[in-house]
Amino acid sequence: MILQLKQLFDIVGEVKDFSFEISPEEINEAQFSADFVTPLSVSGRAENRAGVVAVRLSCVFTLSHVCDRCLKEFEREYSFEFSHILVQSSNTRNDEYVVCSGNTLDINELAISDLLLQLPTKILCREDCKGLCYVCGHDLNEGECNCS
Ligand SMILES: [Zn+2]
Ligand SMILES: [Zn+2]
Repeated sequence: MILQLKQLFDIVGEVKDFSFEISPEEINEAQFSADFVTPLSVSGRAENRAGVVAVRLSCVFTLSHVCDRCLKEFEREYSFEFSHILVQSSNTRNDEYVVCSGNTLDINELAISDLLLQLPTKILCREDCKGLCYVCGHDLNEGECNCS
């Protein structure tokens, strides 16, 4: 979704709410090394407060992962919130600012780059996953094997 920001930059107090879904087909799932079980649901608000334009977004979705340790497939639900200051142009290098040239903001792109930074690179089905036996491949979460 592309958000038009001209009014937001021009009018103090202006508010724009948004709520939409990004379908799994629109997402490059390889970037996430996981499959989307649900669409990525994005909602939030852009607001001009005393001349400063900020956007807040919340992302809710479910991913299907393969555990890095025991290779079991499992699903996990995520919910993240992000906020950014929006500027029309920027001379300063500040990662917290999102530069919206042309007074538009691609929220899909913003949400996905935020999520990629936020999601852990190592995914375990549970924190204390015991993994597989190196010798016989038995899933040690289901009990000991006869190897040791
Ligand atoms: Zn596991
Ligand atoms: Zn074993």
